[in-house]
Formats: sequence, structure tokens, C-alpha cells
Amino acid sequence: MPGIVCEHCTAVCCRYIALPLDTPETRGDFDDIRWYLLHENVSVFVEDGDWYIAFQASCRHLLLDHRCGIYRARPRICRQYSAADCDYHSGDYNWQEHFTRPEHLDAYVRARRGDHESTKRRKREKVRAGREKSAKRRERGRTGKDATASRSAGAIRARRAGGADLPQMSCPYARKRSR
Ligand code: SF4
Ligand code: SF4
Repeated sequence: MPGIVCEHCTAVCCRYIALPLDTPETRGDFDDIRWYLLHENVSVFVEDGDWYIAFQASCRHLLLDHRCGIYRARPRICRQYSAADCDYHSGDYNWQEHFTRPEHLDAYVRARRGDHESTKRRKREKVRAGREKSAKRRERGRTGKDATASRSAGAIRARRAGGADLPQMSCPYARKRSR
């Protein structure tokens, strides 16, 4: 824990471990996380879309003055940890979610299910509206065709009734007879 800032810190970074989790997707995955949260000093958080489990457990080598008892032989993970961007700095936690009890997770799952349901409902409504629209369009098309057809039939009937000339077809026999 090098750096002057560590001298003002109570060794926040030495008091827990956090490990990545697979992103839960199924009901069973969430139930597993619920089980983790049933344990004391265990929490789960989501950061940048990634899920982690955290155990609040101080390192055995943390001294009473918050210094490392095995500084020279400290593990790689401690050597790589930088005080420039560590837990000491406020606002570093960019948690999207932080579950410390099973109830928190249950509320999250319920809200998520609600979102999922309303998305599904919106999709269903969209599909239904689309179907209704096409049905109306089809109906309009059919009515238009019927109207055109009846208009044509009506025109022919009117011509016949009024004695109007109907289109003449040339007849080959007529030509023969006139010879
Ligand atoms: S949390 Fe940061 S400041 Fe505190 S001991 Fe760890 S590295 Fe140092
Ligand atoms: S080994 Fe030292 S630096 Fe690493 S967690 Fe323990 S007390 Fe902190």
C-alpha cells in the first residue's frame, strides 16, 4: 500500500475481497445469488454491467495501525492495486446495483420482471395494432375493388339500357357475306 494517501486511510482495500460472477439470467441464477446474500458480510454489486460478489473480511495481516504486516511479501493482487484509483477516493464506486440482503435482490428481480412484462405487453400491442392496420387496409382495398367492379357493371347496364353503342367487334363472317 504505497503512497501518502494510504497513511490517511483505514485500509479500506484490505478489508474485503470481490470476485466476478457470471451475469445471472435465469431464475436459478438469481436464486443462487439470493443464497449468497443469505450469508453475513456478503454483498453483490454490479459495476459497468459486470456482477461481483464481495466478502467483507479483513486480511489476517492487517495491523492495528492499518498497515500491512507482510508488506514485502504481499501478494501480487496487493502490489498491483493502485492508490491513485482506489477505494479511498470518494465517488470511485460506480455501482449500478448493490445488494446487501436477499430482499434487495428480490425487489430488483420484481422490477426487472415488471419491465420485461411491460416490454412484452408493448410488443404484443404493437403487433396487434399492426395486424388491425393491415386488416383495415385489406378491407379498404376490397371495398374499393367492389366499388370499381360495380361501377363498371353499372356503366355497361346503363349503356345497354340507354341504347348507347357498345364496343364493336369485327366479325369475319360479316366480311364474307359482303363479298
Ligand atoms: S484503500 Fe487506497 S488509500 Fe486506502 S490503503 Fe488501500 S490503496 Fe491505500
Ligand atoms: S497482504 Fe497486506 S496489502 Fe494485502 S490485503 Fe493483506 S494487509 Fe492488505
